[in-house]
Amino acid sequence: MNFQFTVPSQVIFGEGSSLKAGEIAVHSGAKKVFLVYDRGVEGAGLLTDIKKSLEDAELGIVPFGDVVPNPTTAQAEEAAEIARSEKVDAIVAIGGGSPIDVAKAVNILLTNPSPIQLYEGPNQVKNPTKPLIAIPTTAGTSSEVTVVSVLVDVAATRKMVILGNHVGADYALIDPKLTVSMPPAITAATGMDALTHAIESYVSNNASPITRTCSLEAARLIYKHLPIAVADGKNMEARTGMMLACVIGGFAFSNADLGLVHGIAHTLSAYFNLAHGMANAAVLPYVTEFNTEVASEDIKRLGEAMGLPVAALDSKQGAAQVVEAVKDLTQKIGIPPLHNLGVAENALEMLADETMNEFVLTFNPRKPSKEDVLDILKKAF
Ligand code: NAD
Repeated sequence: MNFQFTVPSQVIFGEGSSLKAGEIAVHSGAKKVFLVYDRGVEGAGLLTDIKKSLEDAELGIVPFGDVVPNPTTAQAEEAAEIARSEKVDAIVAIGGGSPIDVAKAVNILLTNPSPIQLYEGPNQVKNPTKPLIAIPTTAGTSSEVTVVSVLVDVAATRKMVILGNHVGADYALIDPKLTVSMPPAITAATGMDALTHAIESYVSNNASPITRTCSLEAARLIYKHLPIAVADGKNMEARTGMMLACVIGGFAFSNADLGLVHGIAHTLSAYFNLAHGMANAAVLPYVTEFNTEVASEDIKRLGEAMGLPVAALDSKQGAAQVVEAVKDLTQKIGIPPLHNLGVAENALEMLADETMNEFVLTFNPRKPSKEDVLDILKKAF
């Protein structure tokens, strides 16, 4: 048995952990930090206390608050230009995957030459980066604990994945209270992203005993807590359970990689700017159904972890129940089909073509043809 397992970030978990940002930045040797966030995070009032912790630690602050969902390579370059000219010596990112991924890209560009496209793929970043503190406000992408940054390369109309050495955050300050302000639709979409990570990493060709253990526990926690977090956003047990699931699922997929759901979702977001979690959620049941052909035992085991009554069923029947449960969950928490997310029906063929170029398909347990992908897109439409 051979495998590698990497966790780039020191995880500091619990209510109030985000307020350690100032102290940790100082401990990392910082004097001036680049503060990356977006307008939604600012509008939800999530910056105030964290900014105060940086000010109390007498740190200079250079704000960059214009991150957009599905951030682009151009935005990363623009932010890096400011960070370089201000000579910042650490980065603090507050938000969902979008601000954290921009912060990771800026960090690469502080010590490595532009353009950011040079670093696409595994382990392309040569020079060590500066201290990066990630503070997630969604649960979510797990970007705070992964070695991954995802940016839209607008010129190529596709999502570009940078992964490996020097990409991850050094500290993940995981404060479940910061997710309470997420409205139900964002809670649902980001939570389905986390469930997708758990399922795809478990059936991945690149899974290891450690990642598989993490994937199962993440699936268990998400299936239990996500519907409650969507229905009652103030429920701290559910919010904490989702944050924990996200960290554990991040350990899994950052090491085991993902699969066809992400291949399709990246293409959908590149062409139609779909929220990442929505895109994943819309196709997850149909890709899981497709994978049943070769991975029914694994999918049934995920069902057992999720607490579904599948133990007495054979693997095909058990896996079919898991597919139904995932479909029911998406409906219960209000995930719309693709035609209600602005995707044009006459684009499905092109989307299937483009998905076939996605590197992440390598890790899917069943190799899809273009016709298979088109069939999945039609079902999700
Ligand atoms: P996001 O960061 O794009 O945020 C979505 C919206 O939610 C924004 O409008 C934001 O302002 C708002 N928001 C965030 N937190 C909030 C809160 N607590 N209260 C109220 N509003 C809040 O969404 P995301 O799903 O977290 O990130 C998606 C991005 O992450 C995509 O680009 C995706 O490709 C990427 N991603 C990265 C990784 C990784 O490992 N690096 C993994 C999966 C996805």
